[in-house]
Amino acid sequence: MILVLNENYEQKQFDNLISWLKSKDFELHVSKGLESTVVGLIGDTSSLDTDMMESLDIVKLVKRVSEPYKSANRKFHPLDTVVEVGDAKIGGGNFSIIAGPCSVESEQQLCSIAESVKKSGAGLLRGGAFKPRTSPYAFQGLRQKGIDLLMAAKEKTGLPIVTEIMDISHLPLFENVDVIQVGARNMQNFELLKELGHTDKPILLKRGLSSTIDELLMSAEYIMAGGNEKVILCERGIRTFEQKTRNTLDLSAIPLLKSLTHLPIIVDPSHATGIAKLVEPMSLAAAACGADGLIIEVHNDPPHALCDGQQSLTPEAFDDLANKVRAILPYAYK
Ligand code: PEP
Ligand code: MN
Repeated sequence: MILVLNENYEQKQFDNLISWLKSKDFELHVSKGLESTVVGLIGDTSSLDTDMMESLDIVKLVKRVSEPYKSANRKFHPLDTVVEVGDAKIGGGNFSIIAGPCSVESEQQLCSIAESVKKSGAGLLRGGAFKPRTSPYAFQGLRQKGIDLLMAAKEKTGLPIVTEIMDISHLPLFENVDVIQVGARNMQNFELLKELGHTDKPILLKRGLSSTIDELLMSAEYIMAGGNEKVILCERGIRTFEQKTRNTLDLSAIPLLKSLTHLPIIVDPSHATGIAKLVEPMSLAAAACGADGLIIEVHNDPPHALCDGQQSLTPEAFDDLANKVRAILPYAYK
């Protein structure tokens, strides 16, 4: 971190700043020029708040030269992290598809979708039991019963289960869930992230609706700082001025994240676009630009789905998509 000091500071202010920084164990490099004085801080500055530093009278400008995320940073961990879930592997050149309904609705619905996506090559089954809905009057999910049905589908098909947690108090219900999803709306629920950092479950962390890439990485850092290194990042579209699609899929985030972090990154083209016919082209684009996997909503009867039918693929359309994605994987950007 570099501090540029205001001109005409008083010696006492300077001495106070230097002794405070030294008390925090930073090695300091002071360079006094004709017009300005620059203080370079050497050491782990991740706990320093740049806004607080900039608010000091003597400080004109603060510039971070290294990222505040350490565990997630590729600089300190050059090799790709591979998250293994049952037979599925995500990251490090392994591509996995997570597929299933937006919400668990019934045993018959879930099991028929699970069987068909498995046949098409999905490695994991998704399904929401606790649903974050904009309206409190919309279907909220089957909750505990939904988790039970997911377990039954896992028993039948052998597919590991991915499902969303919305509150720390529900954690005991997730004991047999294979991957815990943190949805876009909870990406910055820091207490939840800290608690998940103390579990040994893989966490699928979705990018917040209006979150930057750095914010996503800092949220991953929250989980990893607690000791859980099994984090899978998910680009699921961000809010922009565009109204024709549900969100705007930020595909550039994929190769960019690959350079910044060793964590696997998957793409959710269903929530990113909100339109079933855009799911296949965006899936192909995501695979082509180096994503480690996809999470796709599939429903046996999209027009009658209790949630997100408009963006759900039929099992047949999913089968088609999976074949096309596999065909382009050898040419994907690495
Ligand atoms: C979901 O995957 O079911 C979901 C609600 O997605 P997001 O958190 O990305 O909106
Ligand atoms: Mn959905």
